[in-house]
Amino acid sequence: MFLLEEEKKKLVEGLWNKGIKDENILKAIYDIPREKFISDALRKFAYDDNALPIECAQTISQPFTVAYMTQVLGVNPGDKILEIGTGSGYQAAVLLKLGAEVYSVERINKLYLNAKELLASLNFNVHLKLDDGTLGWEEHAPFDKIIVTAGAPEVPNQLLTQLKTAGKLIIPVGNQESQQLLEITRTETGFNKKYYDYFKFVPLIGAEGWKH
Ligand code: SAM
Repeated sequence: MFLLEEEKKKLVEGLWNKGIKDENILKAIYDIPREKFISDALRKFAYDDNALPIECAQTISQPFTVAYMTQVLGVNPGDKILEIGTGSGYQAAVLLKLGAEVYSVERINKLYLNAKELLASLNFNVHLKLDDGTLGWEEHAPFDKIIVTAGAPEVPNQLLTQLKTAGKLIIPVGNQESQQLLEITRTETGFNKKYYDYFKFVPLIGAEGWKH
């Protein structure tokens, strides 16, 4: 128990040193049991600042990446947020801890089912859907914020149309080796773009993503 607390503390201090200054995000990362989102065999690495493999050849993102994207997204309690790429459910848990209303879409059935069971067991109230997230989630649009946690070849048009005015979409865009985090804000008349750091995500696969 003591060891776990020490590891969590070390992770959060490391994130602070890497530029994550939002204390609510650091607290969410401290409080969420990341070891539950990965397999037993990898539990000893749960609080290392690394991405880890989950089932179906996918990954749980590096804590720094989750924290950085959440900081860029800028979450306010009550925000209605669409996440594309539920994966392990960890990023959704961070958004929920920050008080957002979270809608998350995953294309792989096994991951969708795992995340559904895990998030319910941790008492997180989340809306999950098994589908191609490049098409968004039209019935619940528009959203205050949209976060895409897989690497896209370009920005899916459907996601732009499901943003509220003054709403924000963040998405890693590039080739399959490296993607630059792009922030798009919807204005009354169009869209403003801002570019951030480079990351490496698994591919966003779908009608408005990669074909494989
Ligand atoms: N947010 C996740 C977490 O916290 O564990 C990490 C996500 S992992 C890096 C990317 C996820 O996006 C994978 O689970 C993958 O199956 C999913 N994905 C890829 N293309 C998708 C699509 N078109 N719609 C929904 N999910 C997709």
